[in-house]
Amino acid sequence: MIEKVLIANRGEIALRVIKTCKALGIKTVAVYSDEDTTSLHVKQANEAYHIGEAAPAKSYLNQEKILDVMLSSGADAVHPGYGFLSENDDFANLCEKNKITFIGPSSKSMNLCGDKMECKAAMLKAKVPTVPGSPGLVKDADDAIKIANDIGYPVLLKSVFGGGGRGIRLVTNDKELREAFESVTAESISAVGKSAIIVEKFLEKTRHIEYQMARDKHGNAVHIFERECSIQRRNQKLIEQTPSPIVDQETRDRIGDLVVKAAEAVDYTNLGTAEFLRADSGDFYFIEINARLQVEHPITELVSGLDLVKLQIDIANGEPLPFKQSDLKMNGYAIECRINAEDTFLDFAPSTGPVPDVTIPAGPSVRCDTYLYPGCTVSPFYDSLMAKLCTWGQTFEESRTRMLNALNDFYIQGVETSIPLYKTILKSEEYKKGQLSTDFLKRFDMIEKLKKDLKNEKLEKSEAALAAAIIHSEYFKSRVQGSTMNNLNWKNKLD
Ligand code: ADP
Ligand code: ADP
Ligand code: MG
Repeated sequence: MIEKVLIANRGEIALRVIKTCKALGIKTVAVYSDEDTTSLHVKQANEAYHIGEAAPAKSYLNQEKILDVMLSSGADAVHPGYGFLSENDDFANLCEKNKITFIGPSSKSMNLCGDKMECKAAMLKAKVPTVPGSPGLVKDADDAIKIANDIGYPVLLKSVFGGGGRGIRLVTNDKELREAFESVTAESISAVGKSAIIVEKFLEKTRHIEYQMARDKHGNAVHIFERECSIQRRNQKLIEQTPSPIVDQETRDRIGDLVVKAAEAVDYTNLGTAEFLRADSGDFYFIEINARLQVEHPITELVSGLDLVKLQIDIANGEPLPFKQSDLKMNGYAIECRINAEDTFLDFAPSTGPVPDVTIPAGPSVRCDTYLYPGCTVSPFYDSLMAKLCTWGQTFEESRTRMLNALNDFYIQGVETSIPLYKTILKSEEYKKGQLSTDFLKRFDMIEKLKKDLKNEKLEKSEAALAAAIIHSEYFKSRVQGSTMNNLNWKNKLD
């Protein structure tokens, strides 16, 4: 049984894992880089060890160093969080060899899931539909051009080792393809030291719908419903919700059955996510398995009542799933907004630096997973995700309204955030009606809408300030007596 867990991660996800360990009476070991000496995960864990410089390669990706800490601290298990080493099968294998429980799938299954081509091939064999594309890896740009012309432009070039929205290029003709082939190859080599590329039909007006899956070491598997993650920028998720507005119970069950098959096809153990694209035609196509705890897992927790990190630990301990598919009931509606430190108007460029003050929203059915505290710093070395703001409601409208209120209450001083954009999205008719697609931001001109909202907000604020000033002035008292407030032309006074 797991008694002491080393958390090979930082930020909000390290804190999230510590919370469940504490609830289960499991000891925790944190690791940290030069950049994280004052971070909360260091304070909240039972023990903490410095592992190197700020750059991930020198610390959070340093397998040998992390292994040293596991052995010297006597940790019997490791939780990798997401990102960093979480989908690195060499690391999972290193843990297996050293008899340390890796809280996640086996290195073998992870290796299969980490290769988009191998994984698609396994799905085809299991009769899980995948996006039409090249039957295997493409040899070179000429080969890719031939396939692209067969399936028809637009197509995507994808590095089979890509992740987090990286290593994907949309191309619409031979010339673009040739250029993109070069850049995807270069990007993949610089990220993982090797390159292998597939071609996929680009599905337009598509929705990203994924399923939480769980499979124990005895072969029992379930899905824990879907999450719709169609609101994205640069193929990365911004806002997620569950249930999806276009998934009815029949579809949930039907695709859910495929998800269980998918987990079996790659002999997956522990928690994972099967990602699908839903084409405008209504057809679902498998794209990949994320072999780890997903960023957006809290919304599944909110509608299922489960602690997914606990479930991961139980499965890693060899326990059978404590429920059958028919025991799982979806309750209510949940939304997550990824609060990023980024400037929407600078093409989402990271915005980093000290955060002197912060107010974390709270309230009925509001959950905020974050590493922020007044006086902390947003580091340029790591992911821009500062907080995950989630709300739950008995109806979609209730969770949406709670989210808008929580976004209004969230105050982060010192860095630019995605909060203003989310307010505009959450208020939009398109979002309310569930008209979601992966090109949502462009399709509905959300950045333009945001600009308008910010202008109006500024106007409202200055009108209110002006009104207050006038009400308190002697000038106001002497002139307005006997007349009504309505006679004042507030807007002219602003100029
Ligand atoms: P999720 O579906 O859980 O949001 P993402 O694909 O967005 O998964 O990845 C989660 C996080 O993991 C990202 O924010 C990023 O920090 C990290 N990540 C995932 N894949 C990679 C990669 N290939 N290179 C660098 N970071 C990655
Ligand atoms: P990653 O490993 O970076 O998460 P995915 O293969 O999961 O890569 O794709 C990430 C996103 O890219 C999807 O959520 C979707 O928005 C877009 N995408 C991927 N494949 C396709 C496709 N064939 N057609 C249209 N969009 C796609
Ligand atoms: Mg993906």
